[in-house]
Amino acid sequence: MAQTATRTKAAMLEIEDLHVEVEGKEILKGIDLAVRQGEVHALMGPNGSGKSTLAQVLMGRTSYTITQGTVRFRGEDITKWTADKRAQQGLFLAFQYPTEIPGVSVVNFLRSAFKAAKGEQISALAFRKRLKEKMNLLGVEDQMVNRFLDETDSGLDIDSLKAVATGIQQLIGPDLGVLLITHYQRILNYITPDRIHVMMDGKIVLSGGPELAHELEQKGYEGLRKDLGLEESPAERSGVPR
Ligand code: ADP
Ligand code: MG
Repeated sequence: MAQTATRTKAAMLEIEDLHVEVEGKEILKGIDLAVRQGEVHALMGPNGSGKSTLAQVLMGRTSYTITQGTVRFRGEDITKWTADKRAQQGLFLAFQYPTEIPGVSVVNFLRSAFKAAKGEQISALAFRKRLKEKMNLLGVEDQMVNRFLDETDSGLDIDSLKAVATGIQQLIGPDLGVLLITHYQRILNYITPDRIHVMMDGKIVLSGGPELAHELEQKGYEGLRKDLGLEESPAERSGVPR
């Protein structure tokens, strides 16, 4: 019994005192964050605060240097793992703006990823059948997988936003935790996270329950920054979204 309880509560992703540099400049300045299985955490923050940097570091992009701290996934220190090993072990980064790859269709991309992650061969027909089941579960339209990756639309309208939120809710369970990284509060109208964290200038400056989304909606990042007595960093001021 006790073992089951511990297992379901185990932290899936644990980030401890994470410091990261890009081209000699410190971007993440000591991040602490733990996502347990079955939980959805939202990470919010203004442009330039370091959200994408954290996502890249979690996937093991090599141009980002960890100067201090650790990232553990299912109990193992993964800071030295390559990106493909992380993916094989179940760490997955959903695309914000999928990369354009002319001639590569979504279905072929997914089949290659499946084969690489599972280490097993699967025929195109068998894969399509499997994919179809998952698409029905998530409410993804058929034509989506026949599209080429250079046709993806980065901006999400309200219906797509709802579809993403529903998809997350369908998938969330004892084997999955989600870290939802977003600049905007609006997706949180369709999915209620267990925890919300606000990042500014490479640090998590505030964490709280779902009610934090409403506070942020009212005050904006500016208001919150004033409340906390923080200065805007040069990166945030330039506000170039990445
Ligand atoms: P966010 O996703 O919250 O908008 P980013 O993580 O993209 O923030 O950026 C945080 C800071 O790190 C910014 O100052 C940005 O210019 C810098 N930065 C991010 N990636 C790189 C990179 N590859 N090279 C140089 N600077 C970078
Ligand atoms: Mg970003």
